[in-house]
Amino acid sequence: MPYPILLDPDRRLRQESHEVTEITDELILMLDKMYETMVLHDGIGIAAPQIGKNLQVAIVELDEEERFEMFNPKIIEKKGSTIDVEGCLSIPHVYGTVKRADLITLRFYDREGDELEVEADGYLSRAIQHEIDHLHGILFTDKVIEYIKEEDLETYMEEHEDD
Ligand SMILES: [Zn+2]
Repeated sequence: MPYPILLDPDRRLRQESHEVTEITDELILMLDKMYETMVLHDGIGIAAPQIGKNLQVAIVELDEEERFEMFNPKIIEKKGSTIDVEGCLSIPHVYGTVKRADLITLRFYDREGDELEVEADGYLSRAIQHEIDHLHGILFTDKVIEYIKEEDLETYMEEHEDD
C-alpha cells in the first residue's frame, strides 16, 4: 500500500528531519513503500517528510537504471550553478525555475548500511538537492526564480533542451 502524500502547506513538511541511527527492517519497509508511492505519482524523487516521517530518508530515480536510496544524505561539495525547472509531489501543478549547484559530491548510507560517496551532475544532481532540501524543511518554492505555468512546461523544456 502506498502512502498518502502530504501537501504544502502541511507543517510537517517544514520540520527538520532526524538522522537515522539504525537501518531497521521497519525502515526498509518504509523505503520500499516510499518508492511505491513515488512511482504511483510519476515522481522522480521523494523524501520521508512527504509521507509524514520525520527522518532523513530520500529516494531519487530519474530512470530505471539508477535508483538512489539515501539514508542521512549530505552534500559535501558543490561546484558551479545551473537554473532549471522543478516540480514537487507535495505542490501539485506548480512548476518553477530554481538555481542549484551543477556538480555535487554527496555521502549517504544505502539500504545495506554501507556508506557511499557519489558525484552527480545535471538533473540527477538537481533532484538530489531538491530531496535533501525536504529533509531540512525547505521546499523548491522557497527558492523559485520564476514560476512556469503547467501549459507552458513543454515549450520551456524544448527551449532549454541544450542547457
Ligand atoms: Zn519535492
